[in-house]
Amino acid sequence: MSNKFLPFSLPEIGEEEIKEVVDTLISGWVTTGPKTKRFEEDFVRFLGCVSLEAIAVNSATSGLHLALEAVGVGPGDEVIIPTYTFTATAEIVRYLGATPVMVDVDKHTFNITNLTFTNAITEKTKAVIPVHFAGLSCEMDLIISTAKQYGIKVIEDAAHALPATHNGQLIGTLASDATVFSFYANKTMTTGEGGMLVTRDPELAKRCRIMRLHGISRDAFDRYSSKKPSWAYEVVAPGFKYNMPDIAASIGIHQLIKLPGFQEKRQRLAELYNQKLDGLPIKLPALPEKNDMHAWHLYPILLKEEVKISRTEFIEKMSELQIGCSVHFIPLHLHPYWRDTYNLSPGMFPTAQGVYEREVSLPLYTKMTIEDVDRVVKSVKRVLLGD
Ligand SMILES: *Cc1c(COP(=O)(O)O)cnc(C)c1O
Repeated sequence: MSNKFLPFSLPEIGEEEIKEVVDTLISGWVTTGPKTKRFEEDFVRFLGCVSLEAIAVNSATSGLHLALEAVGVGPGDEVIIPTYTFTATAEIVRYLGATPVMVDVDKHTFNITNLTFTNAITEKTKAVIPVHFAGLSCEMDLIISTAKQYGIKVIEDAAHALPATHNGQLIGTLASDATVFSFYANKTMTTGEGGMLVTRDPELAKRCRIMRLHGISRDAFDRYSSKKPSWAYEVVAPGFKYNMPDIAASIGIHQLIKLPGFQEKRQRLAELYNQKLDGLPIKLPALPEKNDMHAWHLYPILLKEEVKISRTEFIEKMSELQIGCSVHFIPLHLHPYWRDTYNLSPGMFPTAQGVYEREVSLPLYTKMTIEDVDRVVKSVKRVLLGD
């Protein structure tokens, strides 16, 4: 067994991405322009749904902020989110002066359910942000139908869920108001930093495009290639600076081509883990129903009650054996800002709390080999069974 440290996550960048970035650098157009436009078009084609619009942004956080702004979330509104998520899902609600209402998650999938969502609905509920934890879809058919019944907007935080399906349909093509993907360095594909907002609502798309670039009614590319004087533009709102530069889009174009292969590789590695970890005192990740596709952004396991060492000790011992592990997530209700601002306590979210205390994310990425999986499994056995 190699003694080199096996990192928790690594991106897979090839010659194609490097060549495209160099081409962009040489072209003289490095900010939002033809490559970003091409990436957006390719993304719509990837989702296979021509009625969608894709809007490239500089992060999923930006995309989520734009989507919430576009559906009209503002002061006094409540937005329902899981506590078991990254802080980005909540902070964008605060950007708009609205209140994030955190709810507990399912003990198998670690996703919000139609029940936890429904129980949190009040007169003030304006939107819900389901998070597809690890790349496994939430029960979107039920959540969307409840939301429609109450006039609540649905913005999917699909940072983990590219590509994943729900009832055979790709996340991004469901009947929600908008879906946002992340291309952060450790996600299932990367542009370094970046994100993609998709929606089938042309009005929402128009607002997001305008707000993505300072509230200017036409983006830079159009501005410099149309017949209008190149200096002419109109500011119609105090927008943001959320556009994706062509340098990032150059990487994205080729990552997207490789994405189906990436998913297959992640799936294969996850299946290997499932086989090889079977029978140990750990709970393996939930699997999708009805042959749906799991994006396998993460491979989350839970140490069972009978395991005598703590989760923290487990991760330390894995690190001593040269294996990088992580934890997803420290629930929002435990972070000082969210806890103190909304008077949250561990007892309010018993499932998320219990999951958090025993969760470990094992390394899972496309550059891993079968030997790497074996190394991780051997180390897990050594830490848990002492052999
Ligand atoms: C990574 C992540 C985000 C934020 O993505 P960025 O592209 O880094 O802004 C949002 N939500 C979840 C659940 C994430 O894991």
